[in-house]
Amino acid sequence: MNFSVLILSVFLSLMPGQADESPKAPIKAPKKAPNIILLIGDGMGHSQLSSALFYGEGEPNYVRFPIVGLSRTSSSSHKITDSAAGATAFSCGIKTYNGSIGMAADTSAVETILEYLADRECKTGVISTSSITHATPASFYAHVPLRKQEFEIAEQLIASKVDFAAGGGKRFFFNRLDERNLFPEFAKAGIVVDTNALIAKEWESDQRYAYLLADGGMTPVYKGRDEFLPNATAMALDYFDKTDPEAPFFMMVEGSQIDWGGHANNGEYLVEEMLDFDKAIGVALDYAEADGNTLVIVTADHECGAFALVSTKVQVPFQGMQSDYDSLSFSFGSGGHSAAMVPVLAFGPGAEAFSGIYQNNSIYAKMMACLEEN
Ligand code: MG
Ligand code: ZN
Repeated sequence: MNFSVLILSVFLSLMPGQADESPKAPIKAPKKAPNIILLIGDGMGHSQLSSALFYGEGEPNYVRFPIVGLSRTSSSSHKITDSAAGATAFSCGIKTYNGSIGMAADTSAVETILEYLADRECKTGVISTSSITHATPASFYAHVPLRKQEFEIAEQLIASKVDFAAGGGKRFFFNRLDERNLFPEFAKAGIVVDTNALIAKEWESDQRYAYLLADGGMTPVYKGRDEFLPNATAMALDYFDKTDPEAPFFMMVEGSQIDWGGHANNGEYLVEEMLDFDKAIGVALDYAEADGNTLVIVTADHECGAFALVSTKVQVPFQGMQSDYDSLSFSFGSGGHSAAMVPVLAFGPGAEAFSGIYQNNSIYAKMMACLEEN
């Protein structure tokens, strides 16, 4: 009820002999739409998720989620999706063909949730441990028929409505194959670029920020990456809070390389990336618990590697090779993605909608419904 309606209803209730038809709804302070943090573990199936139970220090952060669902991941073109169609399902709410970035099956561009919210005075962020132009992050701000068009995707990032970007992919912006450097384009778009380190700035609300910290993908954790992903997540939250505390925000955070550990059939690679992703989940959950108006969703685009945590085979005297159920080994059944359903975890306003078994593009619809209802 706004102020003038309130005056009117008080006036009506004071009028003698008049039936009281004033609305009785309680006066509610206007509440801003919830913030959304969507964390995507690329290639994170149930065994990848489970690995954090056994290889991390203490309990993983994700056990704090109250709501669990399952996402069916097939694309419109294939039973087994790729990351482009998988992320476009989340960003645009559509099933499309493998390779599509923000485009429908007929290659028409479809508005993403990030674009939709940016047009409604939301702040936006995209963070990944791959190139920021890679399929998963690109699907939130770019529209190209083929994921490999990363030079074009880079130009679209600059022209996009992403306020805070962090990841790798320098080579798609600077000293490019076409010999262009996009520094002037960044400046024209009001984007402060840092190609050296994840260092906080004096945030200005009318500035955008881009951290491009590797030529291609960021260094894998098992080869020495620092806490880039959780730190970038915390930094983006600081940027949102300090520049525009009244504006809701939408942020996508990707643990990109869980998938790459799966493709490489490298268990150590995969597990280290999973544990790193769980740290970013912890940052998001801590924020959401304190804030009270932030929806956090963790999911995956697909499983990768047909990965499993299996028993170790040991030589037992006089019995030959036996399974030791108290010793884990990594098993891979594939060098590619698999068709398995993937987990969805949710916390915050509207989280209940994420329980159940549903198609991957329903995650978009559930996020939109949460924005409308809260
Ligand atoms: Mg990805
Ligand atoms: Zn993959």
